[in-house]
Amino acid sequence: MAGENAIRSKVKRALRQPSNGALRWSLFRPGETGSEHRDSIIFVVLFAVCIAASHWCVARFGTIFVWPANGVLVAALLLLHRPAALRVLIVCGAVNLLGNFLRDSPAHMIVIGTALNLAESIAAAAIARRFCGAGLDLRRPRRLTAFVVLAVAPTCAVAALIGIAALRVPLHEFAVGWQTWFAADALGLIIVTPLLVLAAAHRRENAGRPTRLVEPCLLLGLVTVITLAIFLQSRAPLEFLIFLPVLLIAFRLSPIWSALAILIVATIGTVATLSGHGPMTLGVLGPVEWANAQTLRALQTLPTFQLFMMALIAVALPATTVLTERRLMAGRLRARTAAAIAARQHIAHLAAHDADSGLPNRTGLMQTLERSASGGATVFVAALSVDRFARIRAAIGSVEAARLLARIAKRLAASLPGERVALLSSDTIGLQMQCADEASAEQRLRAALAAFDVPMMVADAEVDVGLTAGLARVEGAARGIDRAMIALDQARLASVPLAWFDADTERVAAGGLAMLSVLRTSLIDGSLWLAHQPKLDLKNGRVAGVECLIRWDRPGHGRVRPDAFMPLVEETRFIEPLTDWVLGRALSDQAALAARGISVGMAINLSARSLGEPSLVARFAAILAEKAARAEDITLEITETAIMGDPETALASLNALKRLGFGIAIDDYGTGLSSLSYLRNIPADSLKIDRCFIAGMADGPRHVELVRATIDLGHRLGLKVVAEGVETEEQLALLSLLGCDQAQGYLIAQPCPVAEIDSAAIAVWTRHVSAPDDDIACAVGG
Ligand code: C2E
Ligand code: CA
Ligand code: CA
Repeated sequence: MAGENAIRSKVKRALRQPSNGALRWSLFRPGETGSEHRDSIIFVVLFAVCIAASHWCVARFGTIFVWPANGVLVAALLLLHRPAALRVLIVCGAVNLLGNFLRDSPAHMIVIGTALNLAESIAAAAIARRFCGAGLDLRRPRRLTAFVVLAVAPTCAVAALIGIAALRVPLHEFAVGWQTWFAADALGLIIVTPLLVLAAAHRRENAGRPTRLVEPCLLLGLVTVITLAIFLQSRAPLEFLIFLPVLLIAFRLSPIWSALAILIVATIGTVATLSGHGPMTLGVLGPVEWANAQTLRALQTLPTFQLFMMALIAVALPATTVLTERRLMAGRLRARTAAAIAARQHIAHLAAHDADSGLPNRTGLMQTLERSASGGATVFVAALSVDRFARIRAAIGSVEAARLLARIAKRLAASLPGERVALLSSDTIGLQMQCADEASAEQRLRAALAAFDVPMMVADAEVDVGLTAGLARVEGAARGIDRAMIALDQARLASVPLAWFDADTERVAAGGLAMLSVLRTSLIDGSLWLAHQPKLDLKNGRVAGVECLIRWDRPGHGRVRPDAFMPLVEETRFIEPLTDWVLGRALSDQAALAARGISVGMAINLSARSLGEPSLVARFAAILAEKAARAEDITLEITETAIMGDPETALASLNALKRLGFGIAIDDYGTGLSSLSYLRNIPADSLKIDRCFIAGMADGPRHVELVRATIDLGHRLGLKVVAEGVETEEQLALLSLLGCDQAQGYLIAQPCPVAEIDSAAIAVWTRHVSAPDDDIACAVGG
């Protein structure tokens, strides 16, 4: 909007400054050819020659065969295009000659007069066109012919009508009639044709322009008064005064007013002439005879009239040129302004919409969100992705997939009338909702998602299209969409159809990048280390092994638990060097302990991503070789979910690691989407019951039964069973009773640095279970 106004005010300013170079006040309008100056000089010289020739002819031969050629010649030359000029000249010359042969016949004047009027009309039109910049191109033969035909009717309507009326004047008063005819001729020449040309040229400029009645009435009144003055007051030169109102009508008003002006002049002229009023009445000239002295005198005034007429044209046309230029420029500017505004709107539309589907894009949705949010509404935004979209795209191609996404978006829009649906990216749909609160937003979205219970046709096949949505309340438009995207990621990770934005996730994500870069340097600067937490063998009271848990003393932040950074690390390739570092450090710690006479098996945690990495086995083998260590002394803890992402690769890696000699423990058993088939396939040695089941035992006998059943299951599969998160004596006693093999938890020990592990520490760890023999409290195990 602001842009439009700026353009409009620029246009107005440009129009207010006629001297800014666009408008030229020169007498003759310079055109494209550059020959205007030369033509102007020729125009003036020829005109002077014609006037002189008229004088000479009248004096010498008593005839005036040169006069009609004046305007014609001038105009023909001004046409610039030689062939057209030649045609006009030939016609005029022929008519002139004919006039001289027939000059004694009373009827010849009708024919010649009309033809000459016509020729001069064309000439005047050419002048008008030339000076006023009108759009009629008379240089083309077809256009010239069309114009001649068009010009005949109105030219005759005025000139011939008045002229023929003059024929009714008795022959002995012929000079009077002739002069009247001349007045008609001039009127036809000056009024009709320029009007025609200008009205035709400016019709488009005037279109749609509201006309107030004052101006047309004033101008038509002026036309009436002047015409009456010409015919009733016999003031011949007055005929040239009519020029001004008539041109103003042509320039400023619609063609209908021009037609009215023509009608007024023709009617007054005809009626006045028929009732004996002419510009040169008997009252002025007295009774005259054909070719008498007074007629001659009258004829001798002709060149003076013509001079006067041409002078008027020379002054009036350039003046009107300015008017025309201004109008044309205004029109052009208006058109350009409209085009610029339209282009700007088109560009804005393109920027805010998807080109193929026409749906709003991210920018478009952001604009809508900004508007809605600034309007004070409670706005929610959702990001939706199509489940398995990558697979669908691979199957049907990206073009069809884009179409499918647009169809889904449209279906969504149909089920949420009044809300805005957009395409956020090639696989994400955005949605704006205005709801009273979170609960109603969620309810509406769930209802909309239900619309997708009906399968969609994709590439001639019915496909169940599932959508996953992230939902956020909008506080700032851009943040709103980002938050919905984060929520969408959360929903995908948790495999739920809908998730709300959680501010903590965002904070972690924002801090995550910075954290990762610091973490990389921590591998070498010593701020990363392993804490060790013992597992107690419940059968013999010894330490069955220790689990290595990563710790990070982040500079400036204090100790950071793995839950705060491991998920982030697992999303990047940094997990590989970190896993290698953990194995290496565990082996070093193990060697350090062995040097102090404490021989203990160690367990490290493997993330899902590590397990999916084909290079894992080779890297671990290399680390073992480098440290001259045995795989048998290390247990790898993996969760069931770590297998689920890419079971084939994960199981292949596990089997290879098992062959290398590593022990395998199933971690956090019971929390994942446990599938018995995984239990069967994983080459595990032990199974760690997740701490939530251990804590849950206090809740009742059913929970205890669950733990008992799990222990039995493990045993039947030939696995050692470890209880995690043992925090109380009761839990420990119960687990012993249930036949659990090992226990790990804060009751036995908090994870601690390797330096703190000594015989005194081991004595504290093992105090809960009385060992059958006291001498060795520590044994190598998984
Ligand atoms: P996890 O493998 O289940 O590790 C056990 C977690 O439970 C540890 O938390 C430990 O400190 C805590 N824990 C031990 N006993 C008790 C108890 O009696 N009560 C309670 N409430 N908690 C207890 P931590 O050290 O924060 O580790 C969290 C998770 O981080 C670990 O879960 C493991 O999945 C991951 N992690 C730790 N170190 C590594 C590592 O080096 N590599 C990988 N990939 N993951 C690691
Ligand atoms: Ca573990
Ligand atoms: Ca665990």
